[in-house]
Amino acid sequence: MSSGKYVEKVLIEAETIQKKIKELGDKISKDYAGEDLVLICVLKGAVVFLSDLMRSLDIPVEIDFMAVSSYGAATESSGVVRILKDLERSIEGRHCLIVEDIIDTGLTLKYMKEYLLSQLPASLKVVALLDKPQRRKVDIAPDYCGFKIPDEFVVGFGLDFNERFRSLPGVCVLGDKL
Ligand code: 5GP
Repeated sequence: MSSGKYVEKVLIEAETIQKKIKELGDKISKDYAGEDLVLICVLKGAVVFLSDLMRSLDIPVEIDFMAVSSYGAATESSGVVRILKDLERSIEGRHCLIVEDIIDTGLTLKYMKEYLLSQLPASLKVVALLDKPQRRKVDIAPDYCGFKIPDEFVVGFGLDFNERFRSLPGVCVLGDKL
């Protein structure tokens, strides 16, 4: 099925992403050395990032998954978040790192942080592969960030448009088919 979209350009090449993930992995491994860390992956977009990030760490970690959906139009976050899938294990007293694909308005992350903090983790931080700071509606920033990108809708490396394009190895910008 055609979505009427095509890949117009590659914004971040696969190789550049891999280099950055290695750097993030080194930093996170250092910061959490000797700690008991849980990586909380936000489905589905962050799956590819999680998969590479966890293999770039040289500390033992557990992984768990959450799925959330924000009400509203497909490309616009409303801030009202519904939990579609919750964590499988308790995070009380554990060091937690949310693994996000992209922070846009920040509304989803704000909701997730509040929700997870209410479960009394030992600490809660955020790593995001991509950040679009120009679009922010709430005062929130990732503790670890891969790339700041301009205000463009991107796909690839796990990110979709109507469930398409997730398997592209780089981060890409879409154009409209005429
Ligand atoms: P926020 O609540 O920060 O506005 O939105 C976060 C979520 O919106 C992301 O986890 C992602 O699912 C989606 N999103 C925001 N910007 C983009 C984008 O440029 N491309 C894609 N594919 N999804 C995006």
